[in-house]
Amino acid sequence: MFKTERPANAWRCRTTDSPRLIWTTGRICVRAGIGENTTFRRFETFEAHRLNTFFGFTLPVCPLGLDDLFFCKTQSYSIFFVYIKISTHTQTFYINLNILNYLEKVVICVIVDWLIVGAGFTGATLAERIASQLDQKVLLVDRRDHIGGNSYDCYNEEGILIHKYGSHTFHTNSSMVWNYLSRFTEWRHYFHNVLAVVDGKKVPVPFNLNSIYALFPQKYAEKLEELLIQHYGYGVKVPILKLRESASGDLIFLADYIYKKVFYHYTLKHWELNPEELDPSVTARVPVYISRDNRYFQDTYQGIPKHSYATLFSRMLNHPNIRVLLNTDYREIIGDIKFKRMIYTGPIDAFFDYKHGTLPYRSLRFDFDTLNQEYFQEAGTINYTNEYEFTRILETKHLTGQISPKTTITYVYPQQHNQQNEPYYPIPRAENRLLYNLYLKEAEQIKDKVLFAGRLADYKYYNMDQAVARALTLFKEIAEKRS
Ligand code: FAD
Ligand code: UDP
Repeated sequence: MFKTERPANAWRCRTTDSPRLIWTTGRICVRAGIGENTTFRRFETFEAHRLNTFFGFTLPVCPLGLDDLFFCKTQSYSIFFVYIKISTHTQTFYINLNILNYLEKVVICVIVDWLIVGAGFTGATLAERIASQLDQKVLLVDRRDHIGGNSYDCYNEEGILIHKYGSHTFHTNSSMVWNYLSRFTEWRHYFHNVLAVVDGKKVPVPFNLNSIYALFPQKYAEKLEELLIQHYGYGVKVPILKLRESASGDLIFLADYIYKKVFYHYTLKHWELNPEELDPSVTARVPVYISRDNRYFQDTYQGIPKHSYATLFSRMLNHPNIRVLLNTDYREIIGDIKFKRMIYTGPIDAFFDYKHGTLPYRSLRFDFDTLNQEYFQEAGTINYTNEYEFTRILETKHLTGQISPKTTITYVYPQQHNQQNEPYYPIPRAENRLLYNLYLKEAEQIKDKVLFAGRLADYKYYNMDQAVARALTLFKEIAEKRS
């Protein structure tokens, strides 16, 4: 049973149910794993004592590191063999996992310093910092079958690089965040442009002076421009709800026009709420911009990871102290993992079993369509602010710069969140904040054991850079406490 060489009759399995074995003191866990260091799926686990009985003697009780696993890939790549390596001071054995096949039940024990739930920007940044700066071991778990959280991108069957969860443009004013991520990626310098369909014309949003000239007769547009500059100044950003409050004379007409044609229906579609029912910061993300600058963001640093977000994430997580377990809800394994502390980046209400009630989230459905044409539309995002049930059509090729005779577009349909779809957006409004605060209080009580961070755990409408900044700040606190 113990062989010094890998046996020919190795147990074989496909990537979908392939084993990964992690053995620590007296306990064994089998998990799937293939590829770089990222794709693991639970397979089966075994009670140590039964294993011992099976072998007819007691297995050495010594922790096996995660690296003591051997994936011997066949040429077809999807089939491979797995061995446990056991080293004593005189010899090294390999146990072929096919013998474990006969055993029944589950025991598992992985010992790590940190269990991190969620492999999005928050979880990945914390995993990277803890592993590289504190030299501590991290198990990063995500229930999805990929790393990257909502920022994940991948090539579809037609070979087009798509953003699986809606297009993601990186933008920040923080040199700290930009420099940090630049360790793991080069950038394609890119400014995002968004158009909104208003009265059948595609005009820039944030709604700006060019939008005014595109929609109104020249003379009237000139008058509106003059009034705006007089009242607010050139280059100023005015949230639509502020503009509606403060506008006078002709500007009242303009404010109502923009409110109705750009914000009202879009917001109803997206949130099932009107703009006043949301925290004003939501519509203020896309203010009226008294400028000729058509870019969606004005941040100092803007771009798309040159080789994809997925590459950026896999570089962040490519560290010997980090192991990633995918397709796994942390609740399935929590009892089996020994960890000192945990960082949780999933929905905070789910963590506490909804004891104070469910926090509302908004979801989306993405319908992809690949077309035999180089480009479909003039910009990466076109907002359908009035018509149709979808809010946006996205065309990622504008962001990635990929050259192909084909293109893939994405229709974005807002959805109510339920147990079957993803909680993409916290819904910023006062009553939800009150409910969140109850969960925050619970979180405070267990902060020595579990830390909460991220868009879902903080229940905050973070952009990617804010998620990274939050994680870097939390890491600093962790590191300072340690020293
Ligand atoms: P997430 O990326 O949501 O990661 C959380 C992870 O936790 C998920 O992968 C989830 O599967 C996992 N998880 C949850 N519960 C469990 C559990 N029980 N067990 C295991 N795993 C669990 N930001 C920008 O800066 N620019 C943009 O252009 C942009 N566009 C966006 C478009 C859309 C449609 C959306 C929804 C967001 C966009 N964002 C954008 C925001 C960006 O996606 C977030 O800021 C970022 O993803 C937050 O990272 P996070 O790690 O906090 O959360
Ligand atoms: N919004 C709108 N019309 C638009 C663009 C934005 O009404 O053409 C409002 C809407 O309420 C939206 C919010 O502004 O949810 C924030 O827009 P953003 O583009 O930041 O949304 P995200 O990209 O995060 O979905």
